[in-house]
Amino acid sequence: MARRLLQLAELPVTELKGVGDTKAGSLAKLNIRSVLDMLTYYPRRYIDRTNQAKLADLEVGEEATVLVQVVRSTSRRTRNGKSMVTTDVTDGTGRLQITFFNQPFRERQLAPGLDVVLFGRLELFQGQRKMTNPVVDLIGDRTAKIVPVYPQSEKAGVMSWDVARLCEETLKRAGEFADPLDVSIRDRLELVDRTAAFRGIHSPESMREAATARRRLAFDELLRVQVELVHRKREMERTAVGIAHDVGAGAGGPLVARFHERLPYELTAAQKRAIGEIMDDLRKGHPMHRLLQGDVGSGKTVVAVSALLAAVQGGHQGALMAPTEVLAEQHHLGIRHLLDGFTVPDTDDGNLFGGAGLDRPLRVVLLTNRTSAGDRRRILADLASGSVDIAIGTHALISEGIEFQSLGVVVIDEQHRFGVEQRAALRDKGAGEAIPDVLVMTATPIPRTAAMTVYGDLDVSVLDELPPGRTPIVTRWAKSELDEMEVWQQVRDEVAAGRQAYVVCPLIDESEKLEVRSAQETFDELSAGELSDLRVGLLHGRLPASEKADVMESFRRRDLDVLVATTVIEVGVDVPNATVMVILDATRFGIAQLHQLRGRVGRGSAKSWCWLVGEATNFDGEARLEALVRSTDGFELAEVDLDLRGEGTIMGERQKGQNDLKLASLRRDREWVVKAREVAMEILDADPDLADHELLAEEVELFLGGEDVDFLLKS
Ligand code: ADP
Ligand code: MG
Repeated sequence: MARRLLQLAELPVTELKGVGDTKAGSLAKLNIRSVLDMLTYYPRRYIDRTNQAKLADLEVGEEATVLVQVVRSTSRRTRNGKSMVTTDVTDGTGRLQITFFNQPFRERQLAPGLDVVLFGRLELFQGQRKMTNPVVDLIGDRTAKIVPVYPQSEKAGVMSWDVARLCEETLKRAGEFADPLDVSIRDRLELVDRTAAFRGIHSPESMREAATARRRLAFDELLRVQVELVHRKREMERTAVGIAHDVGAGAGGPLVARFHERLPYELTAAQKRAIGEIMDDLRKGHPMHRLLQGDVGSGKTVVAVSALLAAVQGGHQGALMAPTEVLAEQHHLGIRHLLDGFTVPDTDDGNLFGGAGLDRPLRVVLLTNRTSAGDRRRILADLASGSVDIAIGTHALISEGIEFQSLGVVVIDEQHRFGVEQRAALRDKGAGEAIPDVLVMTATPIPRTAAMTVYGDLDVSVLDELPPGRTPIVTRWAKSELDEMEVWQQVRDEVAAGRQAYVVCPLIDESEKLEVRSAQETFDELSAGELSDLRVGLLHGRLPASEKADVMESFRRRDLDVLVATTVIEVGVDVPNATVMVILDATRFGIAQLHQLRGRVGRGSAKSWCWLVGEATNFDGEARLEALVRSTDGFELAEVDLDLRGEGTIMGERQKGQNDLKLASLRRDREWVVKAREVAMEILDADPDLADHELLAEEVELFLGGEDVDFLLKS
């Protein structure tokens, strides 16, 4: 019988030869508890003995991995009391002296005759070829051509060669592995089978074999995630009860049509497409769960309002939630303005003149912490009775047990997180059992493959087009003080031309207090110095909410020329007359954040500038700023960001059950993410409940297990 991974998961490591309680305790520190954990504890890298750097060929200054044998180790104390171990090694072609400071255990560890792999830089010291504190991997007495190097822990007492031996034994005892992937799919994707993959990753005959093995196992990881996500999505489509909105046949019925007619501009093709996709969702009887990806300034608000109006038109309510109060307030202003003078049919039965034919104004309310107790009470009553059509607020809108008469559409702005709990909170807000439709909007685009993984259970609409007539923002990097003088000159010139500017102060992770102080100092300096003739305002997170709102309002009314701010203005702030964005100490910000900040200008037809001020102190910082200077395309920048930072930060919160990605990388394996999704869909199309893919279902449950995958085993 071919071995199933679940069987190995049920065997404790103590089943392996030579693993007693002590060793098991050590392995547990590396999270290896079952034989399956052992099997999926993969090598960090490989030493190719057939292609090793020879000591004799190494050049001074070069970093290299060398496979050597210990000749002798001695230890002594340096003059200032530090421990110093000196180890002589050889590989037959030459000799090398290794010095370890503060690692006294090396003397005993590196006994004569031991084979070790060293990674370090070759130095020349007093005529002697040396390495200082190299990385040491103990590989044991291995004769294989390719030696796997496992992440080891000297502290836990687990060495690479321990792991290698245990993996070898696991492989030998496991025999053949059952393969959850059909031969036809394997052949099509040129993937090796499971047995070959596990052998190839732990004891490859060649580097090529190791790479082939890795590809198969990484694909399995990605496939499990996609099967889980696609299944979850389809399951919801099949079972969750939503509201079949009456949105007419076209782009959304009379109210939505009226809204579009009244806009002072034409919708972009991308906006029309996204609205069409949303209306198709709303029309259906299962709840929408859609992500709207759009670059800064691509016009997501109009799309969101169209969705909210579609709900209102059918007698339901809409809610828009923003991540901060400032943004909620701003959305409220903007949306009230967009919907000014709109009426809806009054269906209030208690109305003496009620019934068909009579209209009442469409009502949009703002509900935040600043709403007075009295207003709040009234608003809550009106939400419950249905006389409020659209509510705008922060996340408190759904989390605080606020009652809606019939919540039809929820828009979540600038938010990456919308989890199971939030969805559950929505459940009792709709009409009867129906779950409201949800549209999530991202602040910054994320790469397609990352979206597929992180938001794989959502449908995605993309606004990949900016409204016409925008003059691209010119981005410059001001590295020197001379450059900086030019920055302030330009701020003054633009203000003289009737425009406005933002100055964003350094982000200080450690403390909001420090951040505020630095903003205050910048404000003081600029008001007294470079910008002394201008009307400068200050905005930061510690200001009382009312003062924050006042400052924003003054800036909007053009009572202020320049707004010095912390990142509170990062998202959503919309003042089209502002044409200069100055970001101080720009290397402290990430790409996404810089792109967001830059998106605060270039919102009108006038030419806009973004200045990134400050020297880069490292390679990444330089690469980030250069990317911003080069591109204003958020999707392109998202790819650069993924390249620079890896997926960790993108995955962020939506991590539940997705830490199965041991080998696969959203960065390195982009094309495989796409293939895994295609295969997942293909499998689930033919076999929606995985009845004929029992092994695959079992593994999804095993690796991504827990609550998130209950559904796989139900039904
Ligand atoms: P974001 O996607 O960043 O949230 P917004 O919805 O705030 O973008 O829109 C940015 C600006 O573009 C707003 O000032 C809005 O009025 C304007 N806008 C939106 N759609 C269009 C369009 N189709 N044509 C011209 N301007 C538009
Ligand atoms: Mg927006």
